[in-house]
Amino acid sequence: MRLRNVKNKEEILKNTTYLITNPEEYKSNWNKVFNNNNKLYIEVGMGKGDFIIENAKRYPDINFIGIEKYDSVIARAIEKANLEELPNLKLVRMDANKIDEAFNKEVDLIYLNFSDPWPKKRHAKKRLTSEVFLKKYDSIFKNDKTIIIKTDNMGLFEYSLESLSQYGYTIEKISLDLHNSDIENNIETEYERKFSLKGNNIYYLKVKMIVNKDK
Ligand code: SAM
Repeated sequence: MRLRNVKNKEEILKNTTYLITNPEEYKSNWNKVFNNNNKLYIEVGMGKGDFIIENAKRYPDINFIGIEKYDSVIARAIEKANLEELPNLKLVRMDANKIDEAFNKEVDLIYLNFSDPWPKKRHAKKRLTSEVFLKKYDSIFKNDKTIIIKTDNMGLFEYSLESLSQYGYTIEKISLDLHNSDIENNIETEYERKFSLKGNNIYYLKVKMIVNKDK
């Protein structure tokens, strides 16, 4: 994401109840943050927040957390969230590399929307669907694991399909043209809007791993 410096970002980051900058302190206790035991869905690399904010508006009985590493970007998300009253939303400033330090068996679903593709082979481990990250996700999922991916990048899509399948996930839904598919209630992200306006197809993948508790 192109980073324009947001001039008053310190102020924006300071004056909001949505932002959490020390997520490791809430590990195992996110239900207390939200004051309920509702399901928890997270978006890793939420950008300016359109997707996660709209989800929180539409689904008040699910808790949502948007994760983003850059101050200037998260400041934009905070500005939008501040226009709403959403007790089921938190925005976390954190590098996803540390995601397993912030959650412990409490996440129900992970959204990866237009994640950075890291096209060079030597950067493959940085892709959010690499085995490195899938291992981290194992420890944050409560029970059954669900990951939903949207991208316009065929390289990342193919890589993710292979990586997730090899890891043991099974495909629940897949589309090479989300906007002309039977997948309903899609909530657009900023990048999705931008790329579909350019004429790019949007690829969609929902995968699941059922965890056998008796093992
Ligand atoms: N999800 C949004 C969308 O679809 O419009 C933004 C997509 S943008 C291409 C990717 C975002 O992920 C950027 O805002 C970037 O800063 C963030 N990001 C990339 N790697 C990350 C990481 N390791 N931890 C947290 N955020 C990350």
